[in-house]
Amino acid sequence: MEKKMWEIQFLSLPHILKYCKKCGKKMAFSCSEQFRINAQRKYLDIWLIYKCLNCNATWNATIFSRIYPQSLNAKMLERFHRNDKALVEQYAMDNGFLQRIGVEVELPQYSVIGDSFSPYETVELEIKSKYFLPIKVSSLIRDTLHISQKEYSQLVIDGKIKSIPNQDLLKCKLKDGITLIFNEKSVDKPTK
Ligand SMILES: [Zn+2]
Repeated sequence: MEKKMWEIQFLSLPHILKYCKKCGKKMAFSCSEQFRINAQRKYLDIWLIYKCLNCNATWNATIFSRIYPQSLNAKMLERFHRNDKALVEQYAMDNGFLQRIGVEVELPQYSVIGDSFSPYETVELEIKSKYFLPIKVSSLIRDTLHISQKEYSQLVIDGKIKSIPNQDLLKCKLKDGITLIFNEKSVDKPTK
């Protein structure tokens, strides 16, 4: 069976949706890509700063609250101080962190790196994503292979698209990755 690989590349950091005190309603906030560090007495607080897209009000998303400075190594602390881009990305793209700070996430635009193919070919497709942001597998497949919702649903219902491990392909979201089998032939079983 022919193997294909797709890789998801996010084109920006996700916006978050939360209540803005100044605007008086739920607004989209963008990541400022800056940390704020407060070291008072024996405790350390670290936040990632978000800005309301409408009024520019800032909101601090808690990364660490009242921790002992010695619980972070010096190198890590230094990365927070210089707003290290990779570290910003690590938090701003982390669904676990975004859930912990209690916000809704607006999925950023993404592109798919890899070869397209006909959904009627026999293909094993591995989809990888460096960051776990909840992309719907159905939209990803439909957009990349240019097929309609109806066509996609029919392929899934007919068992022409399956996943390893088996998931509900009409509803499931991509985590760090998924493997899909298109048009599996009975003689050509995928090896696990
Ligand atoms: Zn606002």
